[in-house]
Amino acid sequence: MTTPDFHQEHHGTTRPEIQTLRDEPSLFDKCHRFFDASGDYSLVKKADLYPYFRQIERNEGSRAIMNGREIIMAGSNNYLGLTSDPRVQEAAARAIKQYGTGCTGSRFLNGTLDLHIELEERLAAFMGSQAAVLFSTGYMTNEGVIQAVAGKGDYIFSDKDNHACIVAGTQVSLAETLRYRHNDLEHLRRLMEKVHLETPAAGKLIVTDGVFSMSGVIAKVPELVELAEEFGAALMLDDAHACGVIGPGGRGSAAFFGLGDHVHLTTGTFSKSFASLGGFCVGDRDVIEFIRHRSSTHVFSASMPPANVATVLKCLDILESEPERLTRLWEISDYMREGFRNLGFNVWTSQSPIIPVVIGDMMTCFKFWRDLLEEGVFVNAVVPPAVPQGQSLMRTSYMATHTDEELDAILEAFKRVGYKHGVINKNGAAM
Ligand code: PMP
Repeated sequence: MTTPDFHQEHHGTTRPEIQTLRDEPSLFDKCHRFFDASGDYSLVKKADLYPYFRQIERNEGSRAIMNGREIIMAGSNNYLGLTSDPRVQEAAARAIKQYGTGCTGSRFLNGTLDLHIELEERLAAFMGSQAAVLFSTGYMTNEGVIQAVAGKGDYIFSDKDNHACIVAGTQVSLAETLRYRHNDLEHLRRLMEKVHLETPAAGKLIVTDGVFSMSGVIAKVPELVELAEEFGAALMLDDAHACGVIGPGGRGSAAFFGLGDHVHLTTGTFSKSFASLGGFCVGDRDVIEFIRHRSSTHVFSASMPPANVATVLKCLDILESEPERLTRLWEISDYMREGFRNLGFNVWTSQSPIIPVVIGDMMTCFKFWRDLLEEGVFVNAVVPPAVPQGQSLMRTSYMATHTDEELDAILEAFKRVGYKHGVINKNGAAM
């Protein structure tokens, strides 16, 4: 610690000496509490049930090696199964050879490659929009777009189940945010009416996941479009789990309803169907150019590395030339949804390749997860607050490259573990 003499000498004033009660800043108390012996983390770790940060030693799409054992991967967002496609890997390797491994700067300054421009033009054309702007992750896309377009005096209407990066965007934006109950458009209408009565001229943005990441439910786009038009609001869809998954040719949730022209902003990510990392936003040219100049996560962060961009370009080629991948993905999703229901599992109202399988309380969920892994199947355990209390679940998700044998093996494993934990009974009913 510095002494009063030091202050006097250097600043010409005498400061009272501050008594420090402890050696360590109290700021970190919460970090230590997180590991308390009686806390959830320690209990789950001690019981060897901790399902997170598990290492993968090798990944070939629908199969991976974990802890030296081969498992069937049913917990990835690799919807088109393209991360291990040799054509995609080749394109990524070529880009590294030509451009190096990183861009070492923001798009704004030294980080724009011809590849970035090519991808933006491809995406705008693919989505039927005037323009596109890239970001370095999907998370940064939503945060940055919302922060840029919704400012002081504006209102954001956000679904309560929206992804964390949309919530982050509403928190950094200077606009006021009102959250409506999940997919409850009556609630949204009431909030919009109130704002409209009080401040009719205020800018309004409705923002929702196009496909909800935990439930696999598709947003009610037709009703959202109607409300947006009635109140003069902009409508933004986060199609992270919808682009390359649903709608004609994989064009996302608005296209799924034939409403591509009625949505103002669509965002997407490259970390799922597009087998890479990064994100994009499409919309009208002026709005996209404004975002390009005003979005902090775009301007102040390094651009997508060349291999990531080349990967997405190749995936777009494959998506356009092999539409059977999407057909297969949908067949698989229907097959698995029906398979789980026939076994007696509750899969909520999933409408996509994300199929939640409800287990119940958190500890049973973790035990279920570990037993599935022992059966050779990897899925994601999702517990509160990500889902309501008592609704802890196995988030399963599928890829176009899963074989019929793999799908049946997943169902068989769920059946065995489901009986064991009393989640289903032998007659195929939830208990
Ligand atoms: N939006 C949604 C709905 C998501 O589920 C995710 C990631 N799971 C993101 C955005 C963020 O995407 P990324 O992981 O590519 O940053």
